[in-house]
Amino acid sequence: MVIGGSQSGLAVGYHLAQQDRDFVILDAYHRVGDAWRRRWDSLRLFTTARYDGLPGMAFPAARHVYPTKDQVADYLETYAERFHLPVETGVRVDRLSRRGESFEVSAGDRTYTAADVVVATGTYHTPRIPDFAEQLDPAIVQLHSSAYRNPSQLANGGVLVVGAANSGAEIAVEVSKTHPTWLSGRDPGQEPTRAGSVPDRVLMPFIWFLASRVLTVGSPIGRKVRDEFLDPPRGIPRGRVGRRDIAAAGIEWVPRTAGVRDGSPTLDDGTILQVANVVWCTGFVMDLSWIDLPVTGAYGFPVQDRGVVPSQPGLYFIGMPFQRALSSALLGGVGRDAADIAGHIASGAADHTMAAI
Ligand code: FAD
Repeated sequence: MVIGGSQSGLAVGYHLAQQDRDFVILDAYHRVGDAWRRRWDSLRLFTTARYDGLPGMAFPAARHVYPTKDQVADYLETYAERFHLPVETGVRVDRLSRRGESFEVSAGDRTYTAADVVVATGTYHTPRIPDFAEQLDPAIVQLHSSAYRNPSQLANGGVLVVGAANSGAEIAVEVSKTHPTWLSGRDPGQEPTRAGSVPDRVLMPFIWFLASRVLTVGSPIGRKVRDEFLDPPRGIPRGRVGRRDIAAAGIEWVPRTAGVRDGSPTLDDGTILQVANVVWCTGFVMDLSWIDLPVTGAYGFPVQDRGVVPSQPGLYFIGMPFQRALSSALLGGVGRDAADIAGHIASGAADHTMAAI
């Protein structure tokens, strides 16, 4: 059984289908691709189409194009159809536990048992928002980046965008067209070339090679970068929006947001900002609370080795940053991890039957 039917779950499904294995993919959303459809309206990928394909089907766009989030959603839907992947949509799993040698998977009033379970529920669902957000004046509109769609959701007046990584920078530039905007936080850096430029096209294969072959959990440099990236968790460097774009948009880049005074956000340097809106681009935590098994490890991620959970034979995770390589959480990187997991399932189990009870 695969829990989660977006890119990670579909990639595993593709490989299980190649083995003629009996399996099902359960997904909470009502339509394959909704994880992408629900992201903000103007979002485009930071990876080009060449690196956005899942196993067996290239992304249907010219290789240097940066697809929109809706194109990704439609691609995933087409992918599931083309390979006849057995996705049951509208099924949210609320508990995963052991039942003897098997697993019990509960979704509302349905219960399934499965010899193998692959958790492909994504790591970008549960917002990480500082506790002091609760002390902000209730008149201030607060949104996490996962709930942000476009500037029409905001009140008139200033916007504080908290978190200056890729999402924060893109959202700040968008809202700055209609609102005075402050961007708060540490600079995680930016990619060396401008998205879509000729140098970018030339460098991209090299960057992808680094992300998928060099920065892996099997190399000392990969483990070093993983530890720096995950602890404390960092946003990814800005791709499309450089420092110059931020300045040109009239956005004031300010220190970290540190707390609240008299209902308004305060910065590390003591400045109090009078704003009407706060957009939290502060990342996500992985929610494992519905998994009734001792799997949580460092950085709040499950203890696993290339997706295999050593303490729970038959349990797998996929789609996490640095599961195997920096590229593991990306569209173009998940296929290799999916093949490994499907291979592990094929080699390890004598009985993989799944029965709904
Ligand atoms: P998700 O897409 O998050 O899907 C998880 C699925 O699991 C969902 O369909 C959900 O309904 C389902 N689910 C969750 N919980 C349950 C449950 N309990 N029961 C049943 N179903 C459940 N990657 C790139 O390669 N290029 C990019 O340019 C890029 N841009 C990104 C931009 C943003 C803003 C973000 C947040 C991420 C971006 N990524 C990008 C990273 C990554 O590719 C995406 O996050 C991708 O959506 C991860 O796919 P996934 O299948 O692992 O998880």
